Amino acid sequence: MKKKLKIVKDSRPSRVEAERAVKTLIEYIGEDAEREGVRETPQRVVKAFDEYFHGYGLDAAEILSKTFREVGDYGGPVLVKNIKVQSRCEHHLAPFIGHAHIAYVPDGRVVGLSKLSRLVDAYASRMQTQERLTEEVANALEKYLKPKGVAVMIEAEHFCMKLRGVGEDHALTVTTRFGGIYKKDRAARESFLKLTAGGS
Ligand SMILES: [Zn+2]
Repeated sequence: MKKKLKIVKDSRPSRVEAERAVKTLIEYIGEDAEREGVRETPQRVVKAFDEYFHGYGLDAAEILSKTFREVGDYGGPVLVKNIKVQSRCEHHLAPFIGHAHIAYVPDGRVVGLSKLSRLVDAYASRMQTQERLTEEVANALEKYLKPKGVAVMIEAEHFCMKLRGVGEDHALTVTTRFGGIYKKDRAARESFLKLTAGGS
């Protein structure tokens, strides 16, 4: 079985093939792919793709592997607001950009605060939907941190909505996912929503 997986990985197109595909798109729209300003665009686009989609090489388990037990007497939630979200919709590869607000109530274990942004980045830097991104961030925190509760809210603008079709310029898509005490306890949920209101 492992061998099979390896073959799938090896069947990824080469960098040169990816650059050729971009050149095909440039020619498809009717551009001259050989003119000076455009000649090196395929290489630049593939390099940009490496940046946009670097999340495939990142592992949530590794990001959240180092936890700390010493939280003193603090028993409240840990909330990090306005974590940058830069992702690409899986339907059009158009960017969706916004912020994530993440809260969790530790059950004895906390994680470095920067790890929350790294976690968002790892899942956002893939072909995504906002709904799945919200779910994946919450699931990873539940799985690896085992908190008493977790709340994730993402607010984002989708460029495929802004630029295409309906041309909806200021629409903000908001997704939320509540787990543990945030799901069971209405007061905890309301507190999170109050703290994140007007957060971005
Ligand atoms: Zn889209």
